[in-house]
Amino acid sequence: MASSLRHFAHSPAGGSGSTAVASTPSLLRRFSPDFCTFADLRPIRPVAATPKPARPAEQEQEQYAAAGTDEEPPVPATNPPEPGAAPALRVGIIGFGNFGQFIARGIQRQGHAVLASSRSDYSDYCSAHGIRFFRSLDALCEEQPDVLLVCSSILSTESVVRAIPFGKLRPDTIVADVLSVKQFPRNLLLEILPPEFGIVCTHPMFGPESGKHGWNALPFVYDKVRIAEEGDQKAKCEQFLSIFEREGCRMEEMSCAEHDRHAAGSQFITHTIGRVLAQLDLKSTPINTKGYETLLQLTKNTASDSFDLYYGLFMYNVNATEQMEKLDRAFEQVKQMLYGRLHDVLRKQIVERVPVPGAPSLRPREARNNCAEETNHISQVADVHTFSQAAFSTAK
Ligand code: NAP
Repeated sequence: MASSLRHFAHSPAGGSGSTAVASTPSLLRRFSPDFCTFADLRPIRPVAATPKPARPAEQEQEQYAAAGTDEEPPVPATNPPEPGAAPALRVGIIGFGNFGQFIARGIQRQGHAVLASSRSDYSDYCSAHGIRFFRSLDALCEEQPDVLLVCSSILSTESVVRAIPFGKLRPDTIVADVLSVKQFPRNLLLEILPPEFGIVCTHPMFGPESGKHGWNALPFVYDKVRIAEEGDQKAKCEQFLSIFEREGCRMEEMSCAEHDRHAAGSQFITHTIGRVLAQLDLKSTPINTKGYETLLQLTKNTASDSFDLYYGLFMYNVNATEQMEKLDRAFEQVKQMLYGRLHDVLRKQIVERVPVPGAPSLRPREARNNCAEETNHISQVADVHTFSQAAFSTAK
């Protein structure tokens, strides 16, 4: 069984995978679920012997023009390559859900052709948007795109990548991914892909909600994990990355390990807070503050992503558990700050007999009764707020 967690441990090109595993909490070390059970495994068919000559992207567009009159034209290329520039790329997207469709629009705006394949049938959507849809991954790979862009869920990526019929593709094909975690796909691709294939791991740090008004100034993280200096691979890789640059993204080159450290402390925390807020079922009020509006927006953004995505951020980033524990501790600390102060005030009144401004002065008999009541109240507070034993003794 090929457990996905293994990819945290193995770092074929000398990454920090093994150190990361050493710091993984015992829970994750004890349970190594087989993530293949989350996904339908696609059979790998026998591979074709000889690569076909590349088909220019323009031909993909022409095919649409000739295909039928009831189809909408392709997304117009608002920023096509300049005359004399390299021919447009043909990008094959695997996983054409929420994010696959979103990123396809940017690729088309830059004048490149999109081909797509997915578990579900998106042929209607594709025919309306100038994209060739392939019901099987084999059929897509037979078209030999320049770049194969993996946009499947984090949980299904291992089975999706294992099902790619590499022999049908040209040996200099670049395989890229957009997963919101990076060490896992990096190590997976290094393990599974034939050695001539290029690998670029990317994470557009935005999605259909945050990028709906354009991608300008939004961060785009990438790591050229394995790109050959000789041949076309280097130029194709630059051309692929230029899609995001020309869309105005803030290009951030960094290692996959570094990405995962930053993302756990920022993106995972954001998603977690959004998920917690969603549990509160917050409603808009007539007196919303700006801060509250921000929380409502965060809750909406979080809810628009699938739970699979959120679970992937947790399970496939070795730094996520630590952040979850930090968040837990931080919440307890804030509660201690509140209830600790309450205890101080009550203790001053009950034990040290310090009059509290505004409170009625206590006569001896009343004081004894009130003392019992206050003690009772403290323990109720402790119960209601699951005040930990440690916190209670600290406050004492
Ligand atoms: P998602 O729930 O993470 O992934 C949905 C995609 O995964 C769909 O294309 C779906 O195919 C495919 N899929 C799910 N289970 C599968 C299985 N068992 N076998 C084969 N394919 C399966 O939602 P998403 O928002 O579209 O994200 C896609 C990828 O983009 C993820 O890796 C995510 O980390 C990354 N990303 C997302 C965002 C964002 O804002 N949403 C931003 C940056 C990066 P079908 O639709 O055909 O069922």
